[in-house]
Amino acid sequence: MMINRKLYQGSFTKDNTPSWHCPTCNSGILSVDEKQFISEHTASTKAMLKEDWFDPVDMAELTYAALLTCTNPKCLETVTNLGSGFVEQEYDEHDWSYVNYYKPEFFFHLYKYFKFPTIHLKTFKKQSHLHFH
Ligand SMILES: [Zn+2]
Repeated sequence: MMINRKLYQGSFTKDNTPSWHCPTCNSGILSVDEKQFISEHTASTKAMLKEDWFDPVDMAELTYAALLTCTNPKCLETVTNLGSGFVEQEYDEHDWSYVNYYKPEFFFHLYKYFKFPTIHLKTFKKQSHLHFH
């Protein structure tokens, strides 16, 4: 398989996920569960999907959300991961296929979050009010 390692630094595929260390126990690895991984095309990509000139490699943009679970059976922490994605064409000896690559942009870890001072929690509540109501 031809892979430009530099291009994909920081990006991953569903078959080749990074070994992120768990922020709670520091010994487990955060694993990506297929059932808890959702990705969708952005609105601009959806609008172009059926066009003849649409080229996934140059034009497709994805957004994704995943719940990562710690592999340490004594921990089992859950961390939310959000990010963007793009499409590449990959070849092997016989064939080629489109492969989605995901680029993590944000990790949300509830336990660490609650360790922030109270003032941050108040700020967060105010912001969520603005965003969601
Ligand atoms: Zn853990």
